[in-house]
Amino acid sequence: MLSARPATVPSQAIDWSGLGWMYLFFWYFSGITQLLLQFTGFVNFFPFGQAAFMSLLWLVPPLLFPRRTRTIAALIGVVLWFFSLFSLGFFCIYKQEFSQSVIFIIFESNQAEASEYVAQYFVWWMLPALMAYSAGAAWLWTRIRPVWLARRQAAVLSALILAFLFVFPLFKPLVIKGSSLEKAREELEENMEPAVPWQMLIGYSQYRQQLRNMQSLLEGNARIPPLANLQDSTAGLPATLVLVLGESTNRQHMSLYGYPRPTTPQLDGMRDQLLVFEQVYAPRPFTIEVLQQVLTFADQENPDLYLTRPSLMNIMKQAGYQSYWITNQQTMTKRNTMLTTFSRQTDKQYYLNFSRSQNSRQYDEVVLEPFQEILRDPEPRKFIVVHLLGTHAKYEYRYPSAYARFSGREGLPEALSSKQVAVSNDYDNAVLYNDFVVSSLIRMLAAARLNSLLVYFSDHGEDVYDSTGHQVLGRSEGKPTLPMYAIPFIVWNSEQWRAAHPRTYPREVLDRRYSTSHFIHTWSDLVGLRFDDFDASKSLISRDFKERALLVGSPAQPGSLIDLRSMMPRPATR
Ligand SMILES: [Zn+2]
Repeated sequence: MLSARPATVPSQAIDWSGLGWMYLFFWYFSGITQLLLQFTGFVNFFPFGQAAFMSLLWLVPPLLFPRRTRTIAALIGVVLWFFSLFSLGFFCIYKQEFSQSVIFIIFESNQAEASEYVAQYFVWWMLPALMAYSAGAAWLWTRIRPVWLARRQAAVLSALILAFLFVFPLFKPLVIKGSSLEKAREELEENMEPAVPWQMLIGYSQYRQQLRNMQSLLEGNARIPPLANLQDSTAGLPATLVLVLGESTNRQHMSLYGYPRPTTPQLDGMRDQLLVFEQVYAPRPFTIEVLQQVLTFADQENPDLYLTRPSLMNIMKQAGYQSYWITNQQTMTKRNTMLTTFSRQTDKQYYLNFSRSQNSRQYDEVVLEPFQEILRDPEPRKFIVVHLLGTHAKYEYRYPSAYARFSGREGLPEALSSKQVAVSNDYDNAVLYNDFVVSSLIRMLAAARLNSLLVYFSDHGEDVYDSTGHQVLGRSEGKPTLPMYAIPFIVWNSEQWRAAHPRTYPREVLDRRYSTSHFIHTWSDLVGLRFDDFDASKSLISRDFKERALLVGSPAQPGSLIDLRSMMPRPATR
């Protein structure tokens, strides 16, 4: 094809179809994978749009140097093609989007395991598919022709593209929202990430950053002295202890707690085997912040103790348990570094969620297989943490279509608009699916016929138009409502466990008002551990239990903490 500049260039007539082909070529490398992700319904529209947007960038060099268009396009194309093979290959194998969590898993997990995984999922059609994909790119390249613009036109257009991609997105957070430069940069990176090669480059630099943070947290944890005078009433005896951490599940949406819709039929069916605690509340409405207290000695009045006192994972190790962490939450996002640090305090981790965005389709049943695998492990004393995605927003991504049982208005407040009804139905369907996952874990544990115990509760609740006025959706620490903190809390014991620990609880115990910020004492009490700092008055099941204020709010502003009990209707209800 000739690239010689025509003798006369009418300055207004832009070769739109030439521009179109050029754009299509650059878009192809990010767009195909994003298009496939769209078709499988795995992600929302945002990454697709961003990938399309970011692909405009590559138009700049050929517009500025039209004479070299095909060479420039070929060079950029090869680089983009190379990086795109990772995301496309990853999609073929996992049907998921590439993210820094994947980089983390590749570098941090056992290499043999990773290659086994690839071998397990590799199918013959992937090779011809990759070849066809590459041939498509080569063909598009043959369609590329220089787009001649007057020098000034080319400069203006390029400047517009760059401003559109990099200046405008910074303008909003910096000028309008007044965010810090770092925050603005993070937002920009987030926008760039869906496109090649940024997902690899940004993903890798974020992974390095988070790894450093995690290492220093882990090193700090390793320096914490062990508990003094730890005594274990079941020392040396086989035991399998399971802690299931739910996500964003408000007990007021569970039929187990009296919700009119049958959202927890499985747990309802096993109610006689469960201790169902009716008045347990989370201290904070956010995962990381709440688990920093739930899994450690920290609480609303001593929020930093997680840095200086042993965690639940440390304690169980000290007591001689082999410990496991199965998670369907994202591992390597900046937000989740603390979570991943907690997981690394166990002996073995199963990271099952690779998604870049929390608004991705990702079902909790993936935890069942590794759970079964651990139950089969002959290790006599096991401590297993299962961290679910539960009923986290977006609710519609939390359950497969077989669980789409609630669709009408039945059982919902009349005041809800039709949009609110749709959201509530999605939430209730997610609760229904969560019921399947939690009850499956209990069934599997029961079938293993071990001396075992399982505790399930949600990290925090969620207001799904429940509070007065039916207008609040989600969670907010500044405007707390009861549903944001009202969580399910259940304990299941195996027959073997009950035979060894014939303990009954009077009704009064199940009605105690309790904050999970003191959970470490309840857990220790349940599994028979005592140590110098053990405080029976903070154990939900102890005879010496003392009701305390249910403090919520940010402990960084102690003056703002409020007692949830002041928001409860009298006489106390759920
Ligand atoms: Zn959460």
